[in-house]
Amino acid sequence: MVGMLFTFMLPMPSQKHKARSAFFARLFLLTMWAGQASLTLPYFDHHIAGTVGHAFFITLSGYLLFITVVKRYGHALLRKTRLKIVIHLLIIVLLSSFTSAYDINSLVCDVMLLASVAIPLLLAFRYIKLQGGERNPGDRVLMAVVLAALSVIVAGAPLYWMLFEQNGLQQSLVSFGLHMVMMLTFMLGFAVSILHSLVNRLKYKIYQDPLTGCKNRHFFYEIVPKLLAHAKRNDERLSVVICDIDHFKSINDKYGHMNGDRALQQFAKTVSAELRDEDSLIRMGGEEFLILSPKSDVKQAEAFAERLRSKIEAKPLTVADTNISLTASFGVVEVHSNSDIYHGLKAADSAMYKAKSAGRNQVITVNA
Ligand code: GH3
Ligand code: MG
Ligand code: MG
Repeated sequence: MVGMLFTFMLPMPSQKHKARSAFFARLFLLTMWAGQASLTLPYFDHHIAGTVGHAFFITLSGYLLFITVVKRYGHALLRKTRLKIVIHLLIIVLLSSFTSAYDINSLVCDVMLLASVAIPLLLAFRYIKLQGGERNPGDRVLMAVVLAALSVIVAGAPLYWMLFEQNGLQQSLVSFGLHMVMMLTFMLGFAVSILHSLVNRLKYKIYQDPLTGCKNRHFFYEIVPKLLAHAKRNDERLSVVICDIDHFKSINDKYGHMNGDRALQQFAKTVSAELRDEDSLIRMGGEEFLILSPKSDVKQAEAFAERLRSKIEAKPLTVADTNISLTASFGVVEVHSNSDIYHGLKAADSAMYKAKSAGRNQVITVNA
């Protein structure tokens, strides 16, 4: 129960299918708890209810773990599978009522129950295996829980029978211990997986400029040392393009701040459409942007900037049926992997200012 409450304190994953999967993960914890709680019923003289409840909830928890896996991959549970689950649960309820009512040897009951739980666990194991691809922490956690549960059955069960020779209390304690191991693995894994996706989400937000959707200065400071190290290691080129929208203040002054914001968004959209996967567009502040372009030398970067310049010029900002000219000035430089990036940026910045004084809407390239 504490485990379930603990999972409620964690933030939900943002993706719909992962949130649904987390919902089933909580149900899994709840039914595991219910299965364990049923074991106390015989102590209150409810033998049949205890055995049936235990068998039912433990099998159901196996299937909930299987459903957690299926939902995690964004898949739906087939109707046929749902029907099979219901039939399996009915059979286990009938069999355990029968064995309990006729006081059949507890070894038979235990074997029956373990086989019953092994089915959904093996299904979950096979499902994760079949997905293939790169595994993220969430996948690994699920795999670890399924494997932990299977090993409890394979290694724990013989131990349970051999060492305790039908001593009810000791067996209950061992069963409780094994349950706890599984639940703790699951809870910790659940927390790790959710926190991991939360950190990724936060990282994405921290590095994103909310107005234009492109990267911001935080990203710049994070990425630059990595890009330089990568370029140095692989002896690759790295170019920088600095661009600044021309007469932006007058757009704000004449058409209002809202239209100024729209101009920034349109600019970022036009530039983003031209980027390669490895390029990053960073809003350094106001209407000044920077493009980090790995694996491109100064000639390629210059051609790229020229293409951007003409794309931006070709798309004026429309305000109430009026077309407002939108242009930008560019400074281009190739940064050498063992030189200071800030030296390169300074050079690109002064190239951009040269483009401004030479009449704006142009590209100027310099050697750092
Ligand atoms: P130049 O061609 O020389 O670059 O002239 P400019 O008018 O573009 O440059 P200036 O630096 O004088 O003006 C930049 C303006 O950008 C001033 C500031 O109010 C505006 N600005 C900065 N951030 C934002 C923003 O997020 N939204 C809007 N609408 N305006 C912004
Ligand atoms: Mg400007
Ligand atoms: Mg400016």
